[in-house]
Order: sequence, then C-alpha cells, then structure tokens
Amino acid sequence: MKKHNFSAGPCILPQEVMKKAAEAVIDLNGSGLSLIEISHRSSAFVEIMETARSLALELLGLTEKGYTALFLQGGASTQFLAVAYNLLEKKAGYLNTGTWSLKAIKEARLFGDVVEVASSQEKNFNYIPKGYDIPKGLDYFHLTSNNTIFGTQLKEFPTVDCPLICDMSSDIFSRQLDFSKFDLIYAGAQKNMGPAGTTLVVVKDAILGKVSRKIPSMLDYKTHISKDSMFNTPPVFPVYVSMLTMQWLKDLGGISAIEETNEKKANLIYSEIDLNPVFSGFAAKEDRSNMNATFNITDDTLKETFDKNCKEAGINGLNGHRSVGGYRASMYNALSLESVGILVDIMSELERKG
Ligand code: PMP
Repeated sequence: MKKHNFSAGPCILPQEVMKKAAEAVIDLNGSGLSLIEISHRSSAFVEIMETARSLALELLGLTEKGYTALFLQGGASTQFLAVAYNLLEKKAGYLNTGTWSLKAIKEARLFGDVVEVASSQEKNFNYIPKGYDIPKGLDYFHLTSNNTIFGTQLKEFPTVDCPLICDMSSDIFSRQLDFSKFDLIYAGAQKNMGPAGTTLVVVKDAILGKVSRKIPSMLDYKTHISKDSMFNTPPVFPVYVSMLTMQWLKDLGGISAIEETNEKKANLIYSEIDLNPVFSGFAAKEDRSNMNATFNITDDTLKETFDKNCKEAGINGLNGHRSVGGYRASMYNALSLESVGILVDIMSELERKG
C-alpha cells in the first residue's frame, strides 16, 4: 500500500514522476541506454539540462528578465557560503527565522559583517519578526521564505534597496510570488522538486562580479553561468527528476494552480488544530506555513493511540523535528488533499474518543 507521506524532506514526489524516473534509469526514451550511463555532454542530457533550466525560469515567471537558472551540487547548505562568497564585500543583513537562517548567518560571518536585522530566536522561532528596519548600505539582505523545522512562512517580503536573496528550499514552486523582487533564489531539490543531490539557483546576472575577492571556480556563480550549468559533471538523476516534476507542475497549470490545492490542504489541517482541543499549533497563526504544519498533542495519554492510528492508516513522517518536538505534517506539492483528509479524520476521531 502506498503510504501517505508527510515527510519533511526528502519527501513525496508525484507518482507519475517516480514512474518516469524509474523507467529512464533502465532505458532513457527508448535509446537503449540508461539516463545514468550516458555522457552528460550527450545531446540527450544537454537537452534535459536546458529544459530543466528553462522550466524553472518559466514557472517562476522570470524568463527574459536577466536571470539564469543553475542546477548545482552541495545542497542549500553550500549556498549559505556561496551567496556570501559572491556577494558580501562589507556588510550583509539577515533575518533570523530559524535553524537554516542561523546556519546561513554563520557561513556569511566568514566573509564580512553580518547584521542580524531581526530574530525570533527568543521564542524558539515560532513567529516571523515584522516591522524591523533594514539598515542602508547592505551588500544584500537574506531571508528564508519557509522555516521547515518550525513551520513558519513569510507572507510578505520587504522592499529593499539592495539585492534580495532568499532561501526557498522548502516552499519553492508552492505559491505565487513576484519572483522578480528577488535577485537570487536558491532551493535544495529535495522538497518540491526532486531527489536530494541538486540545488536550484536562480540568479540575476547583474548582481555578480562586484566583490573584490577571488572566488574558487566551483563556488563562483559566473563559472556555472558561463558553462550553462555544466562546468563539471552535473547530478544527472536529480536534474532529470526535477525536470519531470517541473513538467508535471506546468501541466497542472503552474504555481498558481498548485497554490490553490496547497491552501486547501493547509486550511484543512489548521482548522482541525484550532477546533480540536487535543491539539495545539506551534507557530503563530498569521505566520503559519502552508508546507509544514507543526503541532503538539495536549493530552499525552492520547499520544500512543494517535501514533498507532496514524501508523495503521499508512501515515509516514509525522514526527516533529527534535528542536520543536511534537508533530510536523509536511504537505509539499505532491501530497494530495486526500492524504491530509485522512490525517485530519484521525485527529478528529481522537477528540471524540478522548
Ligand atoms: N534551507 C532550508 C529552508 C531547509 O529546509 C534545508 C534542509 N531541509 C536547508 C536549507 C539545507 O539544505 P541541504 O540539506 O540541501 O543543504
């Protein structure tokens, strides 16, 4: 039986993408060769890379706006330092909204001054700071759009007079935004895009080339831009699966179509959390993430029954991160409304029994 997969990442991907990906590992489009045994310089793979790069820009509405899409390696964690390596000359600003922001800040401090413009650390990151002032003269301002661990999500983005950089690892392609507000977006593939192993970087070419330091080739965005994301052997399988997922999303009607389903899923679970006294939400209501719903059980004696019922229903990946505890229901693009419905039924049944 296929499980209802609420895992925080790596996580659920569309079934049809899984099937096509599995087929391509055996035989890529009837070529008699596997996707993973052909040269990355072959026309078949170059076409896959180019399709993936242009789909990313198309879905984000950034085609012909001076951006380049790259599929890099080293995870979003490498972008924490690559961003600073390429863009931080003197001073950068960071909004500290969780573990991943903190890690990005730590890396940036190796390269220059980092101003923590605002932080929600004093409340274990259960809200998004608002109403803060952004200092003038920053090399860039960095945000994390969705805080995977704490289940908070930025609903509004500041207008800034410097490049705006955003880690969108856990909500890329899930909601419509004016993506042209951002100068650099990065996202590890392993949530809404594909298997772990590649990171999408969408960068506005005009912001590069301004720092005085020398940048090692592999960490220099210009290297990858000049080589069409093929400076070294790319992670062919994650790029292929990302391409399939983006095609799937485009066929569904793009980001605005999936956003509607994502809102329904989020409304369903958050209404249950709010109505059902057995559960309490972790994140501040106005900052709740549509991707990761974090909640606790208020009556510990019901935990065993809840866990058992979830297991019996084939629900996977509901444990909260160790720094928050409780539960976390991750509802990425490929998770169906039906799966959320099954979880919500178990939650409301628990109230009736308890
Ligand atoms: N940023 C966010 C928002 C994340 O959720 C994660 C990991 N899940 C990362 C960065 C780190 O990504 P990676 O493991 O690809 O380095």
